Amino acid sequence: MTPLQEALELQKKIKKARGQNPDIPDPIIAKRFGIGLYKMKQLLADEVPYPSSYKQTAKRIGRTVEEVAEHREQGMHWCTHCKDWFPLDQLKVGGSNTKHAAAHCEGRKRKRKQSTS
Ligand SMILES: [Zn+2]
Repeated sequence: MTPLQEALELQKKIKKARGQNPDIPDPIIAKRFGIGLYKMKQLLADEVPYPSSYKQTAKRIGRTVEEVAEHREQGMHWCTHCKDWFPLDQLKVGGSNTKHAAAHCEGRKRKRKQSTS
């Protein structure tokens, strides 16, 4: 399951639990699912529950969270050098950052060319 699918699944469960247990206060239900009250209120709102990692990425790269979610759900990652999305097999995954592998990275190549000329 992708992060967004997981969030949607949790949203469905929370809404169901909320609907079926009108006498149970929100904090108790939130605790039952192991989430905070703030997150539960977010999930109960009729909005797409984008994972916070998508929101952070959107902010970092200056794109909408919708665009980030659309690509990330397909296994695409943003390259800060190329300023575009690329499939995971072109990327070097290591540590906490996913980076575009240098061999595929047009932005990097351009940058290198510029600096040597
Ligand atoms: Zn790149």
